[in-house]
Amino acid sequence: MIIVIRKGAEQSQIDNLLTLLRSRNIEPNVSKGAHQTVIGCVGDVAHLDPSLIEALDVVESVQRIQEPYKAANRRFHPDSTIIEAGEAKLGGGHFAVIAGPCSVESEEQIIQVAQAVKAAGATMLRGGAFKPRTSPYSFQGLGGEGLRMLSAAKRETGLPIVTELMDFKDIELFNDVDVIQIGARNMQNFNLLKEVGSYTKKPVLLKRGMSSTLQELLMSAEYIISSGNPNVILCERGIRTFETSTRNTLDLSVVPVLHRLTHLPIIVDPSHATGYAYLVEPVAVAATAIGADGLIIEVHNDPAHAKCDGVQSQTPQMFAETMQRINAVRSALN
Ligand code: PEP
Ligand code: MN
Repeated sequence: MIIVIRKGAEQSQIDNLLTLLRSRNIEPNVSKGAHQTVIGCVGDVAHLDPSLIEALDVVESVQRIQEPYKAANRRFHPDSTIIEAGEAKLGGGHFAVIAGPCSVESEEQIIQVAQAVKAAGATMLRGGAFKPRTSPYSFQGLGGEGLRMLSAAKRETGLPIVTELMDFKDIELFNDVDVIQIGARNMQNFNLLKEVGSYTKKPVLLKRGMSSTLQELLMSAEYIISSGNPNVILCERGIRTFETSTRNTLDLSVVPVLHRLTHLPIIVDPSHATGYAYLVEPVAVAATAIGADGLIIEVHNDPAHAKCDGVQSQTPQMFAETMQRINAVRSALN
């Protein structure tokens, strides 16, 4: 952090500021120029609110040179985090494909889709049991019963399961869940992030909020890590823009940007990003080519009759073809 001192400030005011900084374990380095005095701060400035310093009379402006997230920051943790769930690995060169329906609808359905996506090469099974729906009249998910069906599909196929937790009061139902998803709408539910982070070290799949910056996404990851759980997977799922031809606007360049900023793995959700099944394959291929650590794709045995997100769901056949193209891209890259 660099503090620029206001012109004409008295030495006693500057001294008070230096005392304040030292009391916060920050070592101030003062440079006095002919026209301006600046203070370079060395130490852990994460706990210092720049706006508080900026509000002081003696201060002209404050510039942050270090990101406010530490635990998620590649600067302090150069090695990529590798997440493990069952036999699947994700990050640091390991690629994972999570596939399955938007919502679990019946035991028969989830087992059928699980078998199909596994045969095509998926390494984890997704399926929502607690669904965050825009309308209270839409299908809300099967709740605990849906989780029981996911467990049956896991027993049947061996695929680790990924499902969304909306309310911490349901956490005990998640014992057999391998990866806990926190959806876009809850990315800044800070209490939920802290509760999950301190309760378990199971991987958490954190989806980017629909209007969130990368810094906000990383600060949310920071909540989970600083509460005790370092196993966070980030997910780009498209953001809100003025464009209406797709459900959201995929912000694909965040993949290399995030690889530079953080050691956490980043996956892409081409289903929610685009909203249309025909766009899932080209976007999945592009996400693979740009260096995503994995994908999360909605697949339904009968998209036309799906209870949720049928329009964007691939059939098992489409998914199998997409997997072939993803694998071709991956071997070309290697
Ligand atoms: C989902 O993956 O089921 C979902 C609801 O996605 P998002 O939180 O990204 O909207
Ligand atoms: Mn969905």
